[in-house]
Amino acid sequence: MRFAFAATLCLGLLAPTAGADDPWAAPLPPVPAWSGASRDRVAPAGHPWITPAEVAGFRTTPSYDETVAWLQRLDAASDRVAMVPIGRSGEGRTLWMVVASAQGASTPEAVRAAGKPVLLAQAGIHAGEIDGKDAGLMLLRDVAFAAAPRAALLEGATFLFVPILNADGHERVSPRSRINQRGPENAGWRTNARNLNLNRDYTKLDTPEIRAVVAALQQWGADLYFDLHVTDGGDHAYDITFGALGPHGHSPAIDGWMSGALGEALTRDLAAAGHEPGPLYVANWVDSRDPAKGFRDYPASARLSHPWGDTRHLGALLVENHSLKPYERRVLGTHVLLESALRVLAERGAELKAATAADRARRPAEVPVAWKPSGAAVEVEARLIAWRHEPSAATGGTKLVYTGEVVTRKLPLHTADAVAAAVRRPRAYWLGPQWDDAIERLRLQGIAFETLDAPREVAVEQCRLVEAEVAPVNEGRAGLGKASCRWEPATRRFPKGSVRVPTDQDLGALAVVLLDPLSPESFLRWGFFNSVLARTEYVEEYVMAPLGERMLEQDPKLRAEFEAALAADPKFAADGDARLRWLYARTPWVDALWRVAPVMVER
Ligand SMILES: [Zn+2]
Repeated sequence: MRFAFAATLCLGLLAPTAGADDPWAAPLPPVPAWSGASRDRVAPAGHPWITPAEVAGFRTTPSYDETVAWLQRLDAASDRVAMVPIGRSGEGRTLWMVVASAQGASTPEAVRAAGKPVLLAQAGIHAGEIDGKDAGLMLLRDVAFAAAPRAALLEGATFLFVPILNADGHERVSPRSRINQRGPENAGWRTNARNLNLNRDYTKLDTPEIRAVVAALQQWGADLYFDLHVTDGGDHAYDITFGALGPHGHSPAIDGWMSGALGEALTRDLAAAGHEPGPLYVANWVDSRDPAKGFRDYPASARLSHPWGDTRHLGALLVENHSLKPYERRVLGTHVLLESALRVLAERGAELKAATAADRARRPAEVPVAWKPSGAAVEVEARLIAWRHEPSAATGGTKLVYTGEVVTRKLPLHTADAVAAAVRRPRAYWLGPQWDDAIERLRLQGIAFETLDAPREVAVEQCRLVEAEVAPVNEGRAGLGKASCRWEPATRRFPKGSVRVPTDQDLGALAVVLLDPLSPESFLRWGFFNSVLARTEYVEEYVMAPLGERMLEQDPKLRAEFEAALAADPKFAADGDARLRWLYARTPWVDALWRVAPVMVER
């Protein structure tokens, strides 16, 4: 560590590639040897459509401009590939989607008219995890021409591909972007230009990038949605892991297809091509310093892509390549996975469409909004890397060391498939026109609602917030860490422009998750309505004191309550202002809407 001080000073001057003489090279566990059959997918030198990552021997990944230029060249040469802009990043970069279809579709109408099942895969939501982009470019090359080796894939399915979703993060390039990851050398950054994590934005829709892909999924009629990542987390033998939310979510029929038809085919095809597919949970240790404690489920919160997909009845798969496997192996595994998925869609896409229709027709009386562990852990067998603990001057205790040796171990898995909170599904939710930012998000999500063209009086239940604690800033928002309601019946006159959101619709579960004050993913909890927490009208002592005296004289029951409160709390008894506030709260002069959540419930 004697070089540490000098190295800190010249941090910005270090060579861009990490080598043996690089004091900041990440001391990663040993590289596993690998030579999978999928290597035959790599284009030979001189191939007219070799991709930039192949040219570089998978050491580097192309920049945004290089990627777009390569795709534009392919678009110009191929009548099966069309690039369409779907939005614009915060820094102004065009967000591109590539449409690959046998009929050369370039509009949503043409894709729908073809009637084939549609896969939308996105790469680079976390731009440092960019394997999907280079795999997608290879696959587009392989389907772009009638004589291309995988051209037949487009006979049965349409492929929509977003090569770089987080375009701004993608251009924040550094060899120090991902300390736990084996390449590429020029990886981008996790968050977007506002430092927002796009894979936490699916409910609140604050970012132009997620707004773009949420619109594209709806407009182009995607049947299946892949979100391509690379893990953090510990070492294990698998090179590619994937999964959907699970059968406990809002889309059990879709989940059956995802874990059955799709999951089985992906696993079979990856294994046949020399890869080691595994379950998502292996990236999610209970204790990252002690693998023996086992695994736990991925979070099921709808702010993430795949639980959001589950909530809106869209087959959504999270793919997590293993960060410690070399870049070439990860890209090739993703190529195999995408090809396999298109094949499954061609053969069994009708089953997915039927499952989707069944889940969209669900109208459960209770809508789950949070899950918790269901009890004892189950034991699972996993292909891991052997580990030991050694003393460490850095931790002051021990450190975890992976040896590189593949071992099979049985470890506990803590699944979180029991309902922790559920909402009794109301007939509808109401929201006044002043909450236009929330209404705008309902529209972007594709949720159907009625907008009043004249005032209407409605019998509702309203949530008066009892607990409403503003939590530390998270994803740019000061939301409510906790919220609990005292429900009150009320008659409200909603002005013109107010919206009524029925839950009897395909996206009813998503409406509940976004609108119900008890949902942890609600607009209320994300801080959209924090202004109702402030008290805005006051009373002076020279008015409140005589009024209080009159109240105590005229109402013996109130007087008894007041005296009991004084006797119970000497501090309260000694605080004149607090005594007046207590009395003021029991007058009709207080703000009737103070701490009332603006989303009202029609039972
Ligand atoms: Zn990620």
